[in-house]
Amino acid sequence: MKAIAVRPGVPNSVHLNELKEPSVDAIPDGRGVKVRVLKVGVDATDREINDALYGNAPPGYDFLILGHECFGVVEAVGENVRKVEVGDYVTCTVRRPGGSIYDRIGRSDITSETEYYERGINLLHGYLTEYFVDDEEFIVRMPVGLKHLHVLAEPMSCAAKAVEQAFEAQKRLQVWEPKVAYVTGAGQIGLLTTLILRLRGLQVFTLARAPRKDNIKAEIAEGYGATYVSTKEKSLQQLANEVGKADIIVEATGSSAVAFECMEVLGLNGAMVWTSITGGKTTVEVPSDALNLNWVLGNKLLLGSVNANFRHFESGIADLALGEVTWPGVTEKILTHPVDGLEDYPEMMRLLVEVKEALKVWINVADG
Ligand code: BGC
Ligand code: ZN
Repeated sequence: MKAIAVRPGVPNSVHLNELKEPSVDAIPDGRGVKVRVLKVGVDATDREINDALYGNAPPGYDFLILGHECFGVVEAVGENVRKVEVGDYVTCTVRRPGGSIYDRIGRSDITSETEYYERGINLLHGYLTEYFVDDEEFIVRMPVGLKHLHVLAEPMSCAAKAVEQAFEAQKRLQVWEPKVAYVTGAGQIGLLTTLILRLRGLQVFTLARAPRKDNIKAEIAEGYGATYVSTKEKSLQQLANEVGKADIIVEATGSSAVAFECMEVLGLNGAMVWTSITGGKTTVEVPSDALNLNWVLGNKLLLGSVNANFRHFESGIADLALGEVTWPGVTEKILTHPVDGLEDYPEMMRLLVEVKEALKVWINVADG
């Protein structure tokens, strides 16, 4: 079967590869689930892997099959599988457990080991292929009524975790009733975070560089009842002067400079979540005395959030469903740039690298 792969360490090595079709027996104890892949999304992480900035091949291979945002249909199950049946629509988590205490309690998303295993990213093959097999433990059912949102389940799980972690950590305050949220970045994580925070009843300001006019990102944010702010038209500081500092900020621009800038506009007792993965070497100067004083006197919280476990997939999928009945038809607008078939991997990479307006690139591996 066909698969899209890269040679980690070799820039721009994306290519079509051939693999043996996997069988459910690859997973012991009858726990295997074989999935026929229908759609796979790609994001900045795949771009960084193809730029040889990130990612490693599985042991014994000199290539890595890409793809960590999958959607498919169950093709076969091992004799002990209970959670899913042939014909069910599913997605699959990304990270696999290592040996730490967190990994052993189902929290590989907060592993305390430096080496982590992620399908399509690090040390494990991904989903940009015709079939894959995994343990039922990592397979997540998708309701048939959400099949049009397919590959968004994985980015949604990361957004769900980011927001959940902030709310968990804010239990330190005994009472926390956030009212104003800033979401910086209007890529898939920023927009899906906007959806989650709007569902929680917050007033949300979604910030990105591009002007508001004729902008699909603005249209989506506003479709959720948020306010889109172009930072070309209004700075973070100006926004804070107008509407007050934020109770919660979720940072998802991909820019570490913005992450630090956000520290100046978080309100008292506020929480900020950093989600950007910044592989570069940017350095910025910050007003450290003022920031430090402000953060100490304001009892503010900063946390980093990466990846997502099974529970975050479930809560993310539940919020996608609630989003569909609250603001019907908005979320699917994120799925802007389809590519037809694994063979067209050059187009997939071109869209990912060259086309700035490509909010979401995804491959239609098979119809269904
Ligand atoms: C993926 C996460 C992963 C992270 C770091 C993101 O693109 O969506 O699942 O943990 O990259 O590798
Ligand atoms: Zn990703």
